[in-house]
Amino acid sequence: MLNKLDVSKNYFQQEELDMRMAEPFRIKMVEPIKMIPREERERALIEAGYNPFLLKAEDVYIDLLTDSGTGAMSDNQWAGLMLGDESYAGSKNYYNLVQSVKDIIGYNYTIPTHQGRGAEQVLFPLLIQKGQYILGNMHFDTTKAHIELSGGRAVNFVTERAFQTTVPFDFKGNFDCEKMESFIKEKGVESIGFILITITCNSSGGQPVSMENMREVSAIGKKYGIRVFIDAARFAENAYFIKQREKGYENKSIAEIIKEQFSYGEGFTMSAKKDALVNIGGILALKDDEELYTKARSMAVPMEGFPTYGGLAGRDMEALARGLREGTDEDYLAYRIGQVEYLGKRLTEGGVPIQTPTGGHAVFVDAKKMLPHISAGQFPAQSLANELYLEAGVRAVEIGSFLLGRDPETGVQCESPMELLRLTIPRRTYTNNHMDVVADALIAIKERAHTLQGYEFTYEPQILRHFTARLVPTWK
Ligand SMILES: *Cc1c(COP(=O)(O)O)cnc(C)c1O
Repeated sequence: MLNKLDVSKNYFQQEELDMRMAEPFRIKMVEPIKMIPREERERALIEAGYNPFLLKAEDVYIDLLTDSGTGAMSDNQWAGLMLGDESYAGSKNYYNLVQSVKDIIGYNYTIPTHQGRGAEQVLFPLLIQKGQYILGNMHFDTTKAHIELSGGRAVNFVTERAFQTTVPFDFKGNFDCEKMESFIKEKGVESIGFILITITCNSSGGQPVSMENMREVSAIGKKYGIRVFIDAARFAENAYFIKQREKGYENKSIAEIIKEQFSYGEGFTMSAKKDALVNIGGILALKDDEELYTKARSMAVPMEGFPTYGGLAGRDMEALARGLREGTDEDYLAYRIGQVEYLGKRLTEGGVPIQTPTGGHAVFVDAKKMLPHISAGQFPAQSLANELYLEAGVRAVEIGSFLLGRDPETGVQCESPMELLRLTIPRRTYTNNHMDVVADALIAIKERAHTLQGYEFTYEPQILRHFTARLVPTWK
């Protein structure tokens, strides 16, 4: 029997919570990884300009850069790859994908895309008139980019509670509906393009949106005649949180919760590289708007490919059709969310400050709290990322002032409200022993945190600098 997690009450306190739930799978194929010696890690980091993005993956022992496309597929998905029907039009794998979306989500019209951003680039130009506002809890960065490329303006209405890292709140992905409604009244309905609900809210830390909040957002949409869509990358993790935390849903099945979630939107864009458990793929789907579907289908052709393959091989669509089902399995979700929470619990017990509660796909370490002697402009979370790599060969990613960049007008470095180190957990890929290595390393670093130094640029590109910038320690 599996030990089901019940974390509906106090985070990190309940004795009954058995964090050591075993994986609901066994391993039949392995990929060797190794920790290269300390001197080689030092050399690799210097060569990478003290920017973990520039490390070779081979030199990384445990890679927590992202949960996007880094998960492990099942034997069932790999078997599906062998059943790829590579017909240009009407592949049977496309029909399997359409069926999965119908069964799980309840939407009628499905267009496969190469990734989530592919779905965005097909849909958004059809919905946005120049200058219109697109209202979200917190738009993901490619989503914001595609809104802007279509002439729209992305505005966020996530609850203020999302920014209070140490104060637990069950649904830090929620909209501040009052604030959003005032905005609609102030700007006028015709200036609003649509509302986009991101589940879970990636940019606020993989934090869930409650069903009540989705219902309320949908009601606002109805009241003002504004369309509501869903950015659904982590729809299954969101459903699991609702089951755990929201009154009235504890006895509902994940399948029922997922259907209800999607009943509050009329279409979704999805990066299938997250909850749908594939290494590449995306989906654009619409509930019942045939007219919009027809337009999107035409638009897909020049952007993504013929609408029955949309930038994917037939075999990729089969893996996706199967992954979509597997990603909604309740035991899998209990293990998945439980693992993220396990890492959070180990860190909290070890005195490492993190954002609470932990989200669906990542643990965020509060580097501002851990390294108060390093100023925002010298990038405390980047310093922590580098030290973590040196300590244990673990790659994590800075989400703070280094990522934020400079004010485009004044050229002054912006100061991020939070300096976070994101430990992003790939799905079905690492065990809790790996999580222990990560936790032990950060706890060890905490003991000597005052000795860590800040960083300054030796090379700073103007656009999206965090991917390719080079740094050196300030040695202060
Ligand atoms: C990953 C992600 C996207 C973009 O999807 P890609 O597959 O990376 O193109 C969009 N929205 C959210 C919330 C995401 O997490």
